[in-house]
Parts: sequence; C-alpha cells; structure tokens
Amino acid sequence: ELATLQSLCNGLRGGERDRASLEALHQRLHKLAGAGGSFGCAELSAASRVLEQRIQAWLESEPISLDGAALSSLLEDLASLHETVDEAEPTRQYTTLPDPETISGKGLCIWLVEDDVELGQQLMHQLESFNYVIRLFERIEDAELAAQNEQPDLLIMDVMFDLEGKNTTETLGRYPALHVLNCPLLFITAHDDFVSRVRAARLGGMGYILKPIDVPRLVNRIARIFEQRRAPPQRVLIVDDDKDLAERMRLVLLTANMEAEVLQSQQDIMQEIAAFRPELVLLDLYMPDYSGPDLAGVIRQHDKYANLPIVYLSAETDIEQQIEAMERGADDFLTKPISDIQLVAAARARIARARQLEEQISKDSLTGLLKHASIKEAVELEVKRAQRFAKPVTLAMLDIDHFKAVNDNYGHAMGDVVIAAVATLLRQRLRQSDIVGRYGGEEFVAVLPDCDVENARLLLDDIRQRFSSLQYSHEGQSFSCTISIGLACSTQYPESNGAELLVSADDALYTAKRGGRNQVQEAKPA
Ligand code: GH3
Ligand code: MG
Ligand code: MG
Repeated sequence: ELATLQSLCNGLRGGERDRASLEALHQRLHKLAGAGGSFGCAELSAASRVLEQRIQAWLESEPISLDGAALSSLLEDLASLHETVDEAEPTRQYTTLPDPETISGKGLCIWLVEDDVELGQQLMHQLESFNYVIRLFERIEDAELAAQNEQPDLLIMDVMFDLEGKNTTETLGRYPALHVLNCPLLFITAHDDFVSRVRAARLGGMGYILKPIDVPRLVNRIARIFEQRRAPPQRVLIVDDDKDLAERMRLVLLTANMEAEVLQSQQDIMQEIAAFRPELVLLDLYMPDYSGPDLAGVIRQHDKYANLPIVYLSAETDIEQQIEAMERGADDFLTKPISDIQLVAAARARIARARQLEEQISKDSLTGLLKHASIKEAVELEVKRAQRFAKPVTLAMLDIDHFKAVNDNYGHAMGDVVIAAVATLLRQRLRQSDIVGRYGGEEFVAVLPDCDVENARLLLDDIRQRFSSLQYSHEGQSFSCTISIGLACSTQYPESNGAELLVSADDALYTAKRGGRNQVQEAKPA
C-alpha cells in the first residue's frame, strides 16, 4: 500500500491535472487511517490522517497549484509512514505495577542462595529497596526443594558452595539442583580464579560478580537481564539468488522467533536496509549480477552501517571468492548447505553480540541508561517525530536534591547506590517506548512520546513519591532522598527543537528547586 501511495505521489506535477491522482491518494490515506487503527498501528493511523487532511485542503483550492517544496515534503512524509509501522506499538500504556507493599507474588522474584547469613540478609535488604521480591536460602538444596512449588525469575548464588576443594573436571560442570531451576543465573563469589570462572561459565552463569559486592552494578546487571526478556525480536535480512533456499531460511528464522526478510532486488538493498533495519545481513557470496562482496562494499560506504554484521553464505566450491571476500568486510562465513540449528545459532549469537556492543557504546555503566550524547540525540529525534505526526512529546528533567550531602555523609559509593535507584525506578515505571538517559552526574532526562503534560505530571509525581519513600542504610544509619523534576511538552512550544525544549524543562527544574525541592514543575511558555 505504501508503495502505491508513493508511486501516485511521484506522478504529481503540481497543477490542475493532478486532481484525479490527489483524489486517489486522499481515498487511500483515508482507508489507511481507518485500517491502521484496527490493526493496532495507532501511529500510522494518526500520520495518515494528517496527510489526508493536507490533501483535502489542496483539493478544496481551485485551481490546484502546488509548488515543488510542497510536493517533495509530501513524498518525504509518505516515505516516513514506514517508520510509524516499524515502531508502532499496539500497547503504549503505562504498566501498572502494584505498590511495593502488595508486590509479593507479582513482582519480579529473585532467589538468593548465600551461606554467609549476615551477608545474605544485607544484600536482601538492599535489593528489596529496588522493588524486587527476595527469598533468601542458606543452601542450594533448600532452593531446590522450594522450586517444587514456585520458580524464581532469577537466581543469585555463591559459586563455591559445597564444592570447596573439589575442583576437578568431573565436578566442574555439575550442579544437579540447578536443573530444576529454570531461570537466569548470576554468581557472586570471593574467588577470582580461573577454575571457578570456568565452572560458572559451564553452569551458564550470566554474570560473575566479585565480593565485596558493588550493589548498584549488581542491580544494573539484574535490570538488564530482565530487560532482555522483553527485547524486540532479532531482525535478519537474507540476500540469496536461490529464491527457494532464501525462503526456507526465512521460515527457519521465523520459527525461531526472529524477524526475517528476503531481499527481492539487489538494487534496492539500501532502501530495504533503511526500512527493515536488519541487525544482521546474510549475504550469498556468489550471485549472477552482483556478488556478495559487491553488495557488502555498498553497505559499508554508508557510515551508519559500518557496524552492521554481515555474514557470507558460501558453497564450499567458492574458495577463491571466500579468500577475496575475507578482505572485503566479512564478519563471518557460513558454508552451505547449512543446518537449521546452525543457521539460527549463528544468527542469534551475532546479533546478541552486536546488541551488547551497541549497549556498551551508548549506555552508562552505572545505570544502564543512555549516555548524555545518545539521550540528546533521542530528544532531538522524538521532538521532530512528534511535530511531524502532530502528537505531543513531554521531556522530564530530574535532579537529585542535596546530593552533595549524600556523598559527604555516607560516601561516594552510597551516592552511586542512590543514582542507580533513580535509574531503576524510572525503568520500572516508564513504558517501553519511553527513553531514559543519564544526562549528568545526578541528572536524568526522560522522553515520553505520545504523552501530554497532565499525564506526565501524574506519572512523574508518582515516581517522585516512590523515590522519596526508598530507604537506604549505611552503617546502621538509615536515610532517604528526594528528587526535583521539571517538565516541558512539545505542544506548548510548537516552535522549539529538542535542545530548546530541554532548556525549558531545565528552567522548570530550576523553578522546582527554588520552590523547595521534592516537587514536579511544568515549564510556562512566555
Ligand atoms: P541540589 O538540590 O541543588 O541539586 O543540590 P546538589 O547537592 O544535588 O547539587 P549539585 O547538583 O551541585 O551536586 C551534584 C553532586 O553530585 C556533585 C558531584 O560530586 C556529585 N556527583 C556527580 N556525579 C556523581 C557520581 O557518579 N557518583 C556520585 N556518588 N556522586 C556524583
Ligand atoms: Mg542535585
Ligand atoms: Mg545537579
């Protein structure tokens, strides 16, 4: 449908002769606006409605006369309807997490197996302040027993249990109790030696955290593991002139819960990559018109795809081509015929690694939130999108109150715990489509697409209250902190770009600070 719209638009010349085409465009957009809604693509629906109205206005003028700028902006906006489909989320609702008091049984449940009772209790209390439900066990066998009735979402355990002194290859990979606990596993340990690390790796540990435990980092790790569970499916683009083989690979990947598309025409590879945004390209090495390395070369000419993983599919007979391709942007080779399991495993591993790398580049290590540059970029993009689709976006700027005092009274490490707590709370309370970044040391920015300032105020005020009720303990002393929050919504500042809207949110934050802190304030347009 989008292709038809574009070709109709391409035929426009700007004069009265366009009337029939404009009418056709208008009708199709009208249908799309209706259908988009019923298929859960609210954003597509809204964007189509805006375009429909624009064309309606043109049709009402007589004679029709459109300049080049109007036409090219129409074409551009039609092309970007694609994005609304890619990013459309049927459920753009705030998750209603239960209150911390009633969370038991519903919240994310972590089992902690630690034979050092005092350490276990301390860790349990710290994790509880992050809203997790913790069950503490002294022995792995106790956890095994409990697993007959319920399962945790995550298991954290000390790797050295019971196996002290039995570091033989035989005991290395076995821990019978773990098999009944079918969940991600994190190890905490005092042993930073090779054999212990190998054992943790063999048991499938997703992390190996050394004592004394850095709690914010542990919490960050936990949050990321839980986030992975709701990560979007991995996307693979398949390029192969053997259409049957390509289609088969597509089905295999789909069955493994990935998204896969087959490139239809080699010339369209860049458009396809822009629209589908694959995280891996499987490229046939030998094809009649253009070879795999030819296409890889074209992809690599675009800076923004410099890190897009490309894996060649080659028949064993193309040894010379393989050697040549090795020098031209190959990340890996898969040799045809390839088994289904091998295909899925190779694609999964590549994409997982690429996502991890991307995270390390763009995310702050203490909080797991976007870094300064990335959140600024996100702000700019979301404000543009909001304006294009005539939707609100609200920016929230948050700053911890009297944070210097936390550092001075309880130490820098405790300060880090408080910073990580803000991050975790934001992640828990915001929608998946919201974007959160650590803007500065103890300053945060949240971008809330499709959210007006009234809703943002309710949400952020709830976050403010919850944050102030968190208790931290330091050497027997307990304390709490507050945050101040400034809001600015794009609809109140229709002329502002992202950076300018951020300044407005910052002004509102300043008002909140002056007004006594621990409050939410909205920016007031002059
Ligand atoms: P206000 O209520 O006005 O915001 O007061 P404040 O004390 O929070 O003021 P200010 O913003 O000037 O202080 C921020 C402090 O945050 C200064 C800096 O030492 C500390 N800080 C910045 N980054 C980090 C960090 O990563 N960890 C810790 N522990 N402290 C940090
Ligand atoms: Mg502060
Ligand atoms: Mg500050």
